[in-house]
Amino acid sequence: MTRTQGDTSALASSLHGMDGASYGRYKSLTGRWAMDGDFILEVRRIQADPFAPPSRIRIDVPAATAGFPEHLHDTDVRRRALGGHLLSTLRRALSATPLKVDAGGQEVLARSAIRIDDGALRVELGVPMPGHGRRIDGKQAARTLTRDLPDAVRAALRWETADRDAAEEFVHTVADAGALREQLRERGLVAFVADGAVLPRSSGVDERPLDDAVPFVSPESLRTTLTTPHAGEVTGMGVPEGVTLIVGGGYHGKSTLLRALETGVYDHVPGDGRERCVTRPDAVSVRAEDERGVQRVDVSAFVSHLPSGAPTDDFSTTAASGSTSQAASTLEALEAGADVLLIDEDTSATNVMIRDTRMRKLIPAEPLVPFVDRVRPLHERHGVSTVLVMGGSGDYLDKADTVILMDGYVATEITTRAHEVAATAGPSRASEHTGFPDVAHRVFDPASVDAEVRGRRKVTARGKARLTFGADDIDLSAVAQLADSSQVTGIGLALAHAVRTDLLDGRRTLAEVLDGLDRDVVSDGLECLAHGALSDYALPRRHEVAAALNRLRSARVAELRRSSGG
Ligand code: ADP
Ligand code: MG
Repeated sequence: MTRTQGDTSALASSLHGMDGASYGRYKSLTGRWAMDGDFILEVRRIQADPFAPPSRIRIDVPAATAGFPEHLHDTDVRRRALGGHLLSTLRRALSATPLKVDAGGQEVLARSAIRIDDGALRVELGVPMPGHGRRIDGKQAARTLTRDLPDAVRAALRWETADRDAAEEFVHTVADAGALREQLRERGLVAFVADGAVLPRSSGVDERPLDDAVPFVSPESLRTTLTTPHAGEVTGMGVPEGVTLIVGGGYHGKSTLLRALETGVYDHVPGDGRERCVTRPDAVSVRAEDERGVQRVDVSAFVSHLPSGAPTDDFSTTAASGSTSQAASTLEALEAGADVLLIDEDTSATNVMIRDTRMRKLIPAEPLVPFVDRVRPLHERHGVSTVLVMGGSGDYLDKADTVILMDGYVATEITTRAHEVAATAGPSRASEHTGFPDVAHRVFDPASVDAEVRGRRKVTARGKARLTFGADDIDLSAVAQLADSSQVTGIGLALAHAVRTDLLDGRRTLAEVLDGLDRDVVSDGLECLAHGALSDYALPRRHEVAAALNRLRSARVAELRRSSGG
């Protein structure tokens, strides 16, 4: 345990004393300071110069001082929720200061930025230590650390002064979402979209709800009632297991509905509009992504042969096409344990989705087996449901268990009518393929998953779409269900953790490695991924961890394990 350097006034006088000194003197602040208002400030790392990433500090508020009642933090879910609330309140309290806290966006994720332990709060912050060129600006630093910070801690991290209703609402909202999600499986649903939900976002770059949006109303025939611990009974649309088709004209809200299902794997902050839209935790969005690399994926379910003669049951490429990339991503999702696939025509390769009768006639030897031929066996044989947006082709009408029409943002169920149309508009195209092969499991070579460059771990998120991992850059721009850049850092740390702790040992399959990661986080907490890292990170899902590994260009698969068959 580091010794305590002094109190608030000692910190202030140290900072004033180093005003104008060379920047490196800041390093002498490293250590713990007992601050007015009864919290500990720990200076953990001082940046090397004013242009380097911000310095890292931590604050510890004892339970007796914070005083948040136990019912707000007595389960993992409530701790995550209260943590999310406190981080966003603290961010607001710090908005006029240079101090930064990782409060995230619309999704409420477990974050390294806050830890709640028996009511004691530990918060990690970044602070760019101010300088005039390479000289210390001690006055500014003293204002930030000895005045702004204690003010914000007092305002945001104490029950005594907290907006109690807001805290309760936040925790209740998240707990209710969790309860809704837990009911999905037993009710035979893959997702639930509450009546009154606001699905569209403010803009492509602003995830807050759109003003004046048309609130969601469930079709009568799909309306279900679920129960929540705090809001009581909630009605909305239950999306059943099986094959669900979302149809409708362009610009009528189809993709917006699918997007709500994609993000429904996470809980949302109060006011988001999608607080009560929940999706099964293992729902995975799949899309085309040409140019991505593929390492030894069995894509034979969708590709029967290739012009090069390369095997399709053990397929590798450094630059996939639209169709082979989507085929590979689908199989990879299944390998990682997806039980729901979410697919949008807007981001799909047409030739892997459909093939009409004329094209079958013209090119009988086409090697692609369209998804339309696999979507039913996938459910019947593997229990994997699909929700698909498809406004441009009728090929799926007779494959769907449920057809939802979006018309001017209003949902209706038109399954019967869709089946009638399919039956009268000519014979159904005979499926050429009726089964769905068992999914192969891959064993990655740990030596090829190297987070280090010259002995130092290098894991850095570049926004939400890129992860620097060791000497590699992973392109995550087609991974649709990432919440934010902290989660991308979390992915990098999770992969590094898997290799470092021998979970990824060259014998376990990827699915087993992901199981192990899930177990580690449940038993040892999110912090088990850090191994000394000071950067903020958030908990990723296993599916996004897999997606990153699948896009790591250096990664090599040592072995392909096919189930013993039967
Ligand atoms: P589609 O996929 O059917 O072409 P989108 O889901 O992309 O349509 O939606 C088209 C536009 O309509 C988007 O700008 C979206 O934000 C907006 N929108 C979607 N749902 C609603 C709604 N319920 N109320 C208002 N605007 C909406
Ligand atoms: Mg669309």
